[in-house]
Amino acid sequence: MMLHQSRGAAPAHTGTCSTTANQLQPLFIIPSCSTRRASAHSRRSAASLLRATGPQRSTRGLRVLAIDAAQPFDFEHRMRQRINDETRLKVGIVGFGTFGQFLAKRLVAKGHQVIATSRTPYEEIARKIGVEFYQDVDDFCEEHPEVVLLASSILSTESVLRNLPVQRLKRNTLFVDVLSVKVFPKQLLLRELPPEVDILCSHPMFGPDSGKGSWAGLNFMYEKVRIGADPKRERRVETFLKFFREEGCNMVEMTCEEHDRQAASTQFITHTVGRILGTMQLRSTEINTKGFDALLNLVNNTTNDSFELYYGLFLYNQNATDELERLEKAFDTVKKQLFGRLHDIARQQLFPMVDARSTGAGSGNGNGIVVPASSQPVLPAPREPLALPAATQQQQYASGKTIDV
Ligand code: NAP
Repeated sequence: MMLHQSRGAAPAHTGTCSTTANQLQPLFIIPSCSTRRASAHSRRSAASLLRATGPQRSTRGLRVLAIDAAQPFDFEHRMRQRINDETRLKVGIVGFGTFGQFLAKRLVAKGHQVIATSRTPYEEIARKIGVEFYQDVDDFCEEHPEVVLLASSILSTESVLRNLPVQRLKRNTLFVDVLSVKVFPKQLLLRELPPEVDILCSHPMFGPDSGKGSWAGLNFMYEKVRIGADPKRERRVETFLKFFREEGCNMVEMTCEEHDRQAASTQFITHTVGRILGTMQLRSTEINTKGFDALLNLVNNTTNDSFELYYGLFLYNQNATDELERLEKAFDTVKKQLFGRLHDIARQQLFPMVDARSTGAGSGNGNGIVVPASSQPVLPAPREPLALPAATQQQQYASGKTIDV
């Protein structure tokens, strides 16, 4: 509580709890321990409280200016503000879908102020999480979030960014993207945003399923693409990163280019295999092995993500096509190994006499090629492992022989 000493009044008593009292003459400061108690009182009750607890002097001539008002020069208030500024961020999430909401919950739980905007009206969901939702992007930007976190789908991010009225934000805003591909948003943000805006590209390598519980040990990739020289900007980006570090994430600083190279052979392949197995509609059984459980888990984790996300991983990572081809070739190779072996066995059963006559050491096949005894062909070798010549197949079916593998 602060009282103003009017002209001609007796010298004011300065409270012992106040740290700034000496610098504030001629303001009269009641000890803050008293002022807290008095905060709900009116001016009149404040004066009576002063009579009861303060010095036994007349309070006539003192005028109450404010009750418990934190003034800009109040040291405690300024310190508290500074600590808050350094540890709490005002984060504005653009794209409040599955992943945006997932991050928002943790940010709110850690005391950060979160606002959001999205194409779909998410007011109700946002309210439950403790997030202020703005359907209108102008209103969203005029709230001046310190960090704008882009969590829109990979495919929509370019148009989402173009529709964002960036001029309504503060010029030193930090933009962070969490897209699952990285070169594309890095180039997009550098191209579209004004030069005074900071840019951090990041990829939490987990989602609502894999990061349902603790985030301890889960990888968080980031690249500080453009951070202004001002120490405040450095501190802000560190505060943002600290949030993930304190959740236990394994912080991996790497370029977006390197991320995409590595992610094509890890994340994209994981999603592809998960989707292939999902398409097979695998079902849990009574005799599941641990390995099969892991596969079912993979199917769940990957097919719960939107197809748009998966398609984005393919379309916006130029390494993905190569990896898809490598996967296809690997599948063909394994299949050929199986069917090649099957073909050898089938031929041995179909032509046992021929195999019995062949020598153990292997011999020439007439074309100058030495082949092992067990696989010496009597008939011309088929082009495809199982494509036996039509005549042979007929013989096989006619004789009712079975192939024992
Ligand atoms: P998503 O399908 O990739 O994205 C959904 C979000 O994109 C929603 O906020 C949606 O807005 C918005 N969106 C889609 N099409 C749009 C359009 N035409 N115009 C405007 N907004 C549009 O699913 P997600 O899982 O939430 O992922 C969001 C981002 O996080 C993606 O960039 C993804 O790569 C990244 N990420 C996801 C995970 C994960 O595990 N899910 C992990 C790491 C990073 P509305 O909801 O308003 O329609």
